[in-house]
Amino acid sequence: MINKHYLQLADNYLFADIAHLVQAYKATHAKADVISLGIGDVTQPLVPAVVDALTAAAKEMGAEATFRGYGPERGYTFLREAIVAHDYRRHGIGITADEVFVSDGSKSDTGNFQELLSASCVVAVTDPVYPVYVDSNVMAGRRVVKLPCVAANGFSPAMPDEDVDVIYLCYPNNPTGCVLSRSELHAWVDYALAHEALILYDAAYEAFIQSSDIPHSIYEIPGAERCAVEFRSFSKTAGFTGLRCGYTVVPKALKVRNGRSRHKALSMNSLWLRRQCTKFNGCSYLSQRAAEATYSPEGRAQVRQRIAYYMDNARLIRETLTALGYEVHGGVDAPYLWVRTPGGMASWTFFDLLLHKARVVCTPGAGFGSCGEGYVRLTAFGRREQTMEALERIKGISI
Ligand SMILES: *Cc1c(COP(=O)(O)O)cnc(C)c1O
Repeated sequence: MINKHYLQLADNYLFADIAHLVQAYKATHAKADVISLGIGDVTQPLVPAVVDALTAAAKEMGAEATFRGYGPERGYTFLREAIVAHDYRRHGIGITADEVFVSDGSKSDTGNFQELLSASCVVAVTDPVYPVYVDSNVMAGRRVVKLPCVAANGFSPAMPDEDVDVIYLCYPNNPTGCVLSRSELHAWVDYALAHEALILYDAAYEAFIQSSDIPHSIYEIPGAERCAVEFRSFSKTAGFTGLRCGYTVVPKALKVRNGRSRHKALSMNSLWLRRQCTKFNGCSYLSQRAAEATYSPEGRAQVRQRIAYYMDNARLIRETLTALGYEVHGGVDAPYLWVRTPGGMASWTFFDLLLHKARVVCTPGAGFGSCGEGYVRLTAFGRREQTMEALERIKGISI
């Protein structure tokens, strides 16, 4: 007998559907050079500091005196200490190395963390949403409620109108590219503390924040260490999508109740450690040395350059489309732009129009949830020349 909850999953063919339509277009338009502004993957190579660290680590692994087998459960101390020093202590946040769990990336951690929780928990996600949060909870048989993010509230999620136990927040946001202000994030922490809810905070795009007043970590908000887990990844920050490394912060102050008993407060940190020890054997020594290198002075400067490159793309897209009369959101503190379709066109209709008239691929907003209808997502992760060429082509179509 299969897990019947898998049958409840909505067919998630978004990117397969897009690829299929693009293939069909190419088949009937020989030599059509299609440019994708739809990809959610980076295109710039690893920075030199990371490549040097990988090379050195590979040599260590090839010598008997320095070879390493299984690593420590939470990840190597050298990496967790670097994470704590640069991502938290430098910003006045008191997260310690034993609250950090190094992993092979945030998709697995954001997908797996829910298994510490009861199947009876009600889960809130934003609409539009990164599909992992929804699907991993549907697989576990949990009820999922949607928090609409619409233009009228600046794409900031509406508070739930029923009691929820778990809230997934992703800021800077994929797909809208929007951020939460300090006071908006504060309101969510206050909600979680008042309702004994858990916030699962995905900060995969933290490194793209440019505005000085936007929080980089949920732990900048007082009390968050008692209600929130934070997920971070080197994937978008440093181009690790193919190398794999991320980390999850589970504060020791974060407690979870055992049934109705108020006195049996269990430590989420111990539970996650127990889970990881059983089901995960760590991310490679090479990846962890590579991640450590992103915190060296050279590594930090080089990674900053990569981010600046993508954010220049974002600015170009935003300025060009705005000048053309499009309504553009995001792209200031995130590599994603959320563009309203002209004339109230459906997402997929505008997708077709851009493909056929401009040979540009976008991602239809409706693919991320019903509130995404009427929008498309563009990404700043392309190469500069291709991004500029795509914008020239969009200029050529009248809306
Ligand atoms: C890309 C992305 C991640 C990172 O995933 P990895 O598994 O670390 O590559 C996490 N969350 C969101 C919303 C993303 O878009």
